[in-house]
Amino acid sequence: MTERKPVAVVLGGSLAGLLAARALASTGARVTVVERDALPSGPEPRRGLPQARHVHQLWSGGARALEQLLPGAIGRLRAAGVSRVPMTTDMVALSPHGWYRRWAESAFMLPASRDLLDWVVRQLVLADGDIELVERAEAVALTGTDAAVTGVRIRDRDNAERTLPAGLVVDATGRGSRASHWLAGLGLPGPERREVDSGLVYASRLFRAPDQAARDGFPVVNIEPDPRGTGTGRGGALMPVEDGKWIVTLFGGRGDEMPTTADDFARYAREELRHPIIGELLANAEPLTEVALTRTTANRRHFFERMPVWPENFVVLGDAVCALNPLYGHGMAVSAQSALALRDVVRRQGPALDTPGLSRHIQKAVGRTVRAAWDLAIGADVFYPGATETGPTLRDRLLSAYVDRLLYTATGNGRIARRVTDVTALQRGAESLLTPSMLVAAAVGPLKPPLGGPPLTVEERKAAGVS
Ligand SMILES: Cc1cc2nc3c(=O)[nH]c(=O)nc-3n(C[C@H](O)[C@H](O)[C@H](O)COP(=O)(O)OP(=O)(O)OC[C@H]3O[C@@H](n4cnc5c(N)ncnc54)[C@H](O)[C@@H]3O)c2cc1C
Repeated sequence: MTERKPVAVVLGGSLAGLLAARALASTGARVTVVERDALPSGPEPRRGLPQARHVHQLWSGGARALEQLLPGAIGRLRAAGVSRVPMTTDMVALSPHGWYRRWAESAFMLPASRDLLDWVVRQLVLADGDIELVERAEAVALTGTDAAVTGVRIRDRDNAERTLPAGLVVDATGRGSRASHWLAGLGLPGPERREVDSGLVYASRLFRAPDQAARDGFPVVNIEPDPRGTGTGRGGALMPVEDGKWIVTLFGGRGDEMPTTADDFARYAREELRHPIIGELLANAEPLTEVALTRTTANRRHFFERMPVWPENFVVLGDAVCALNPLYGHGMAVSAQSALALRDVVRRQGPALDTPGLSRHIQKAVGRTVRAAWDLAIGADVFYPGATETGPTLRDRLLSAYVDRLLYTATGNGRIARRVTDVTALQRGAESLLTPSMLVAAAVGPLKPPLGGPPLTVEERKAAGVS
């Protein structure tokens, strides 16, 4: 007698969807991934992933979750030319409190182009015989009742509709998810929802790095915006990706005129940020693409885990639950950690997908996974003018005063810098910033004097052709 495997359907074939499919298959389920786009056969752009034209860093907290789900993924990225950037050793960053020093490694970052990252994940996930991809098909509604989802209605590439029955439906359709609407269609109330919108706009271009900088490797360069300073949201990031390229994203806040042409881009980088280093570096790099713009940066969270009633057999994860301001680079890491949480709950409480209460347990675990990144993002973004209707609360101001003090201390104290970086990389919980020794260090402040300029080495300056 052959044993029937539980059947799951995952909606969305981007990072959250593919990692959720992998997580479920590893618990013994057969999984169908429904994706609206045609997924490219190589590391190429696609319509459903417009954010791939902008900087995409994977923090170590996410990289480790990725590796746990897909052993060998990091090795494949490294073999494809992605560097492993030790933090803050290979980062040159201007915070609102001054330049960070390049301390010994704690966390790390994988600066792959998004198209490459997704391709590597896609190859590994779809090699699993228990995972099937249905492309150019759109999920249009859930089937079932307010007590239990039984499947999903999809519209195929030829416009025909059909139902896919499933023991578990996972919505990973991103920021545009219709989960609330679908739940309303089953007679359920909408979830609590919160939005904090910094108003940041991203403008990005890809460059070929100067030969020597491409050969020797180059640090990540980051001019952070200062929500409470002058020029509010203005900043930029230069990230060395595979194939000797630099992806450069410049940001601006509400009311800033963002560059749309090559000349404007170079001028903005040189003249509008708090330091011209990115503009100086670009003078010797060869542009490879036009300027791409996006305004998709608002933090938006649906508190599905707090709904008084939750149907069996339905889970939402990735940006569909919590879309974050990309400035902090957390969306992919949270997606990977959420997929891992999904796997662990199913292993613990399943593996049958129809175990009563399973989907609610998973949704609560996903809610816990997004919390740290959400708190970090909104803790900073509430201070952008117009981010919320009511502005920062007293709690926001107190917390932010402490975090500011820690960040200031981090400019001249390696232990604090490493701890803060570990939390930013989502490899340690935020509670580790509240220990007695951290409080004392914050009270003392930086142990070393501030740096007068970007801490690039003589060799790096020479390789990039800047004085
Ligand atoms: C400008 C920008 C920069 C970013 N930079 C970073 C960064 O540096 N680091 C980081 O960690 N994160 C970053 N992010 C976040 C990151 O892109 C997402 O968190 C990540 O893609 C995971 O999202 P997801 O899979 O939930 O959704 P998405 O990536 O948006 O994918 C949703 C998928 O669902 C498909 N789909 C949509 N509707 C349907 C439907 N009805 N039926 C079937 N399929 C459907 C879409 O085609 C798409 O493939 C950035 C985001 C933006 C916007």
